[in-house]
Amino acid sequence: MKLYAPSTIKELKERHGFRLSKSLGQNFLTDKNIIDHIIEDSLIGENDLVIEIGPGIGVLTAEAARAAAKVIAIEIDKGLIPILRETLKEYDNVIVLNQDVLKTDLKALIQEHGRGGKVRIIGNLPYYITTPIIMKILEDQIPADSITAMMQKEVADRIKAAPGSKIYGALSVAVQYYCTVEQILSVPREVFVPQPKVDSAVLRMDVRREHPVELADENMFFQCIKAGFEQRRKTLLNSLTGTAGISKDGIREILAAAGINPARRPETLDLCEFAAIANLMVDYTKDHQE
Ligand code: SAM
Repeated sequence: MKLYAPSTIKELKERHGFRLSKSLGQNFLTDKNIIDHIIEDSLIGENDLVIEIGPGIGVLTAEAARAAAKVIAIEIDKGLIPILRETLKEYDNVIVLNQDVLKTDLKALIQEHGRGGKVRIIGNLPYYITTPIIMKILEDQIPADSITAMMQKEVADRIKAAPGSKIYGALSVAVQYYCTVEQILSVPREVFVPQPKVDSAVLRMDVRREHPVELADENMFFQCIKAGFEQRRKTLLNSLTGTAGISKDGIREILAAAGINPARRPETLDLCEFAAIANLMVDYTKDHQE
């Protein structure tokens, strides 16, 4: 069965009485080359555990099952479960869970099913929750080696943006702190059924073994980034004032110690500069505790 063929999708839908849900971001892939490319560039080894987010009718799942030791596919839509049972029946190394990935304990799954190989998270992600899914995996420090994810092109562009670019923001800094990011594919909207209104891109985010900067307190770093990008037109001095309860004079002192011009815009700062400021903020709050 050519799972990726639009005629197969149509036939499965009709036979199982399945109705596509727009609100769950259901756009199914219909291009075999793109499917192969995603699987190949996910670097799945034969001992690896793959966690797939949103298998749909199983086009990526089936290919991942051929490459990996085990695949756990997490699908929120219970209407797709009987379809997946049928399309994946020849693979005895696939577990399908009918769950919301945002409420799934991925650490526990990895602990239970990981067998010493790498852990590869893959998915053609539902657009409406791409950022929460990626940030959950990273912030919860899920022990995965990589995340290969299809997403709306604009989100991919933001994730890989460099300092100084208009689209560089908190998401770029956060993902780049945890991962190295590589775009492996551009995907036109025409290869999906139904066709979305936007183009897509696939990023492979390799989770870093060591963080690129030393942080005294990760929380402070993320507070600092959040404050920095909240109002992009403000100067660094103004946007950071009040962060962690630090006054304008305090921020001025911190920026001087970091050798960073307070009139700069936050979006010109790289990871190391944000880290330097956050570390000085930690020292400052310790020194100024009553
Ligand atoms: N992997 C399939 C493909 O490439 O054809 C389907 C991809 S489709 C863009 C996204 C899938 O994620 C849908 O099957 C949808 O039902 C599922 N999904 C949406 N929200 C989810 C959530 N919170 N947890 C798990 N799966 C979800």
